Amino acid sequence: MIRLESIQRRYASDEVETTALADINLEVAEGEFLAVMGPSGCGKSTLLNILGTVDRPSSGRYLFGDHGDLAVMNEAALAQMRGQTLGFVFQSFNLIDELTIQENVALGLAYRKGSQGDKKQRIEQAMDRVGISHRARHYPHQLSGGQQQRAAIARAIVGDPSLILADEPTGNLDTENGQQVMDILTSLNGEGATIIMVTHSPSHADMAKRRIDMLDGRVVSSVARAI
Ligand code: ADP
Ligand code: ADP
Repeated sequence: MIRLESIQRRYASDEVETTALADINLEVAEGEFLAVMGPSGCGKSTLLNILGTVDRPSSGRYLFGDHGDLAVMNEAALAQMRGQTLGFVFQSFNLIDELTIQENVALGLAYRKGSQGDKKQRIEQAMDRVGISHRARHYPHQLSGGQQQRAAIARAIVGDPSLILADEPTGNLDTENGQQVMDILTSLNGEGATIIMVTHSPSHADMAKRRIDMLDGRVVSSVARAI
């Protein structure tokens, strides 16, 4: 599904140049659940940003399904493909405070075609899926952190993305809520979603099917879970 070939990402400012990604070569198959670990500053967020096409590599190729090389795709085509194919989950939820939960979830359909009735049904199904339907008309600040993250997952999955990218999705949650989020991600993966998740939690990484470790902008190990 995904192949990263010799991906580099350098940041240049004045005289200083930072290499966030030195040389990333990575394949991710459809249906995988990949955990990405590594110390702060090793390039995890940069990698996820590139996978999510909100950042571009300085060099290298990013092959995605039959879309070709996303590293050189024009911005308009990228935005459309992102909206139709990718779902994002963040550490800090990133819900819009002024919108209700239902309206936040609807944002995940911005790039989707379909009738109003069809969209309404998808939104209800997504909220149902993560157990947040009873909060549909509430605003984010009226919800607990765990509920907000589940709403954010509903927004990520409402458009039925082929890839879910999660950047420390349990980082701001207590143990119980973190486990709930992991259970949801695991069952979405069981239903066919491909997931790439950055995490600092070894126990949450163990719930993925494969774990890669990064150091200084490189992948230094890749271990599949014994089943
Ligand atoms: P974390 O370890 O939680 O990922 P970081 O401090 O490494 O946090 O980075 C947080 C965000 O701040 C990154 O996603 C990146 O976009 C931005 N960032 C990190 N380092 C720099 C920097 N030197 N200059 C500008 N932005 C940076
Ligand atoms: P991680 O997510 O593993 O903590 P990041 O991908 O955030 O790592 O950062 C990798 C490296 O790139 C760090 O050295 C960070 O300071 C640097 N970096 C990240 N974003 C920026 C940016 N926007 N400008 C300059 N340097 C950055």
